[in-house]
Amino acid sequence: MDEHEKDNLRLLKNLNIGYVNPVNVNLLCPICRLPLLNPIATPCGHTFCEECILSALEISNNCPYDRKEIKCEEFKKVDRLILNILNELEIYCPNKMNGCPHICQRQFLYEHYHHCEYELVECPHSLCHQKVIKKELQEHSNQCDYKEIECEFCKKIYLQKDKMKHIKNCEEFEKAESSVKEDLIIECKYKKFGCLWQDKLKLVEEHEKSCKYHQFEGFFENVYTKNQRQLETENSELKRKIYQLTDEITELRRELDIYKNNNMVIQQQQAVSESMAELENEVQLLKCDMQNTNLTLNDLEMRYNMMVIDENIRLKEEIQSLRTSFQSIQFQMLSFMKYIKGTLQNNGIGPSFTKPILNQKNNDGSNTSPSTSFLPATYNSSKLIKSASANFDSPTTTSTTTSAANTMNDLFKNYNFPTSAATTTTSHTYSKSDVGTTTTTYDTIRRERRFSKI
Ligand SMILES: [Zn+2]
Ligand SMILES: [Zn+2]
Ligand SMILES: [Zn+2]
Ligand SMILES: [Zn+2]
Ligand SMILES: [Zn+2]
Ligand SMILES: [Zn+2]
Repeated sequence: MDEHEKDNLRLLKNLNIGYVNPVNVNLLCPICRLPLLNPIATPCGHTFCEECILSALEISNNCPYDRKEIKCEEFKKVDRLILNILNELEIYCPNKMNGCPHICQRQFLYEHYHHCEYELVECPHSLCHQKVIKKELQEHSNQCDYKEIECEFCKKIYLQKDKMKHIKNCEEFEKAESSVKEDLIIECKYKKFGCLWQDKLKLVEEHEKSCKYHQFEGFFENVYTKNQRQLETENSELKRKIYQLTDEITELRRELDIYKNNNMVIQQQQAVSESMAELENEVQLLKCDMQNTNLTLNDLEMRYNMMVIDENIRLKEEIQSLRTSFQSIQFQMLSFMKYIKGTLQNNGIGPSFTKPILNQKNNDGSNTSPSTSFLPATYNSSKLIKSASANFDSPTTTSTTTSAANTMNDLFKNYNFPTSAATTTTSHTYSKSDVGTTTTTYDTIRRERRFSKI
């Protein structure tokens, strides 16, 4: 920071600065709530005026913004861009209250301020103490009551306000020639109140008779003069207050604008939250619909499952009934084979004669049934089933079936019958109790049909 910047900063710190436009909140110091002066960044990412944060650190080692611990050594300079934005903020001349209309960038305050014609300065006459703006200093100084004047006759020093008094008492003036005395130019003693009269000394008495100010002599001498300084002080104080109030009004207007904007934002937020609520309601309704649909789906699924279970039970029952039919057919077959065996033995014909008959039946795959000519006229199937059931009264269906099938195989072996593919498949399938497959069901049905004509 160069000297000029330091001087400028000092002015900005010590004077009451008014900003022309509202300053972005991000450029305000969180401590003094004013636009940042000589900003500095903490490690936690917050920015303060250097002076503000240093005085805050004297009280506590925590960041005033988020209470994180901070150390001066860790402070960083802020970005040049931020500094430029701060430097270019427009401000009023601090002498605005004295009438200065100047507006400038913050960084150029020093240049203007030290040449500002509206700066208040004290009257150079030691006894005066009055403050006047620079612009009017010369004029005031010339008219100042306390201006020291050297008497042109006695060379003594008197105050301007005492000119008449001195002249009247000046011994050297008395001694002077009458022409000189008469030609001495003198001003009305009420000049400072506004009387512009000035003329030769001999005409003073004549003027005083007609001077309006002279007629209020008592007022000016006693009341006005005594109170003038006080009134002037009060006046400047009031001016100061007016400017402060103007600044406050500007600030309040700015806050009101922000408030109005916030209000608008709040209204918008309300509108948004209302539409959100509507949407939520719709979502809720949709959820209800979804639940209803799910319930319906579950219901349908349950019904479908029930249907499937019913169908399964029905199929199982059907399979069971088919199995029972098959068993009964096997029993019939067994009885039939016994019957054939008995018949063949009785007729003295060897088992080889039966081969072509059985082969024909098993190989052509059609529904051709064996000839019924072997059956005697007295053949009674129900009797045969009953007798066969007595032999195969096993506890489980599977074992019954298996034993029945095995018995049949044994029978075929004993009689040297070729075991056909269909029989083997059936035997194998039933031994595994695999009755659920379509093939087996189909085979069983075919077999049942094949033997139903017996
Ligand atoms: Zn600050
Ligand atoms: Zn912080
Ligand atoms: Zn100025
Ligand atoms: Zn003065
Ligand atoms: Zn004199
Ligand atoms: Zn006068």
